[in-house]
Amino acid sequence: MTPAETAAYLDQILAPLHQRYRAVNDGDVATYIPELAKANPDHFGICLTTLDGTCHAFGDCDQEFTIQSISKPLVYGIALAALGREGVHKKVGVEPTGDAFNAIILDEKTRRPFNPMVNAGAIATAALVPGKTLAERKESVLATFSAAAGRRLSVDQKVYESELETGHRNRAIAHLMLNFGMIEGDVTEILDLYFMQCSILVNCRDLAMIGATLANVGTNPVTHEHVFDTAAVQDVLSVMFTCGMYDYAGEWAVRVGIPAKSGVAGGILAVINRQFGIGTYSPRLDAQGNSLRGIKACADLADELGLHAFNFMNSGSQFMKSVL
Ligand code: GLN
Repeated sequence: MTPAETAAYLDQILAPLHQRYRAVNDGDVATYIPELAKANPDHFGICLTTLDGTCHAFGDCDQEFTIQSISKPLVYGIALAALGREGVHKKVGVEPTGDAFNAIILDEKTRRPFNPMVNAGAIATAALVPGKTLAERKESVLATFSAAAGRRLSVDQKVYESELETGHRNRAIAHLMLNFGMIEGDVTEILDLYFMQCSILVNCRDLAMIGATLANVGTNPVTHEHVFDTAAVQDVLSVMFTCGMYDYAGEWAVRVGIPAKSGVAGGILAVINRQFGIGTYSPRLDAQGNSLRGIKACADLADELGLHAFNFMNSGSQFMKSVL
């Protein structure tokens, strides 16, 4: 297929897919952070960006929302670049939990949080972001997300303040980790950085471009800026694959089979290694806190394009061609 034919083919798949789920009205907008409750439940966008920078956008792809937990794999990438795999693994593991994202739980043997995709692990990861001052660390996170998205992003001050006011559970988790030496330094500052990273505003186009940057081994395909350490990208995608969808991660790996990360504001970031990035937004969430329409759309897309990591059309395709 020529690039133009590929683009037309993707549009033919994405347009009906967006249509199919736009009227699904199950699920509820998150309310535990009061500012998130103000989201419009009807918003729905899907965007797919290929590694030549072409963006296929359907629905509300310019609507901004806070990145929330989708910040976790990106900050994990920053920590890995700074300290390497072994350095980061002293403070946070890579085992899926099967528990809710905000569970107050650490590995009994190692005292580490289980993985960087649950809140405990994400707070421990935020503590590893290098920088002399909190302001410097905040700017480094915002600058990295911006470089991956290919435009300067900003923080939703109201959501940030709402998280600061209501984040007592995250404070409890941080203090538990302080007790076990899994985080060091000023807990208030570490939590401040964590709340700020969750409050960064993105839209579906940004998520798809961030996904394309990860799919492109850390280099933004449009600006050509090298954003994420090459070795770190492999680890980031691995934990997204095993732990990215909260306590639905196992089911997701079986049904959809691609690295992804969801956030409670309703975003999903998915990555097809060396091919493209996907961003979806719909704030109606299921019981696990994942975007309901986003999950359905990604599952159909994976089926229709044969994206599952172990789909026979994938790496086995040459073999299939030779035997069929
Ligand atoms: N800021 C949110 C929290 O820590 C992020 C959680 C999420 O998206 N699951 O509760």
